Amino acid sequence: MNDAAAAASITLLRTTEALRAALAKPLASGLHLVSTPIGNLGDMTLRGIATLAAADVIYCEDTRHSRTLSSHFGFAAPLKPYHEHNGEAARPHILAALAAGKRIALISDAGTPLISDPGYKLVRAVIDAGYTVSCVPGASAVLSALTISGLPTDCFLFVGFMPHKAGARAARLAELATTDATLVLYEAPSRVAACVADIATVLGDREVAVARELTKLHEAVLRGPASVIAQQLAVSEPPGEFVVVIAPPHAGVVSDDMIRARLQTAMTETSTRDAAQAVAEALGVPRGRVYDLALALKREQERS
Ligand code: SAM
Repeated sequence: MNDAAAAASITLLRTTEALRAALAKPLASGLHLVSTPIGNLGDMTLRGIATLAAADVIYCEDTRHSRTLSSHFGFAAPLKPYHEHNGEAARPHILAALAAGKRIALISDAGTPLISDPGYKLVRAVIDAGYTVSCVPGASAVLSALTISGLPTDCFLFVGFMPHKAGARAARLAELATTDATLVLYEAPSRVAACVADIATVLGDREVAVARELTKLHEAVLRGPASVIAQQLAVSEPPGEFVVVIAPPHAGVVSDDMIRARLQTAMTETSTRDAAQAVAEALGVPRGRVYDLALALKREQERS
């Protein structure tokens, strides 16, 4: 057995032990908010598995959807619906079960419950009734997109979904225009191009990162000025799920590092002049600035 294979078998052994220990630990009575994967079953945490395996009932948005996760891991607890249409009727049953000492889990279709998903009113009711609420953190599209966006992470504001209608969306963006933070929002595939075009118009041509199909096979991130990314998205309605991350005011200028990274690829394919022209157009920055950086890069490459 080589070193890598030996290390892999130790990892397998340790992970199995950790899961066994998590499964053996009794689960306390209360409401357990369990994050589930956003597209990759490998992102289910050990504690998440152990909690759902020990729960008396698993509440979810759509029982047919969550059956896939439940069957995959072999959870025995019944799946019951909890969503915006039955929440009011379901909450007294959940509170009664907690009074009887039951372990109740809440999951959503994907990611972290309550984050643009049902659960807030339930958590409030459980706290007000004096029962315990605990969480098993895990996947969420907000943080996944933010961390790979390349935009500032020290202060950010998650604004959920934008209004569907163009006028209301522009008004909401205008309210956010002076917020001194990176903005993160969810958007549907049918509206993402229009939304990013509105960002360019209402917020100015800030740098954005549009993350698509995070953690899935076709995960991709488009980064650049909002006007340029809006054009790329408008070419054809892209399939998948999207998170849009927007640079704070004044921080969204295209950096020299970003230009150099694009030039490095472009200069392997075409002349310095044409590469500078193409990168300037793609990033929406003056051609002279890109050309100066391209010449400096060429000199560095010739020296090394
Ligand atoms: N509770 C979830 C979470 O923690 O991320 C979000 C639920 S919200 C109803 C669904 C939206 O999240 C999608 O429309 C999309 O904007 C975003 N989303 C979820 N999974 C995603 C993924 N794999 N890639 C990109 N965006 C995703």
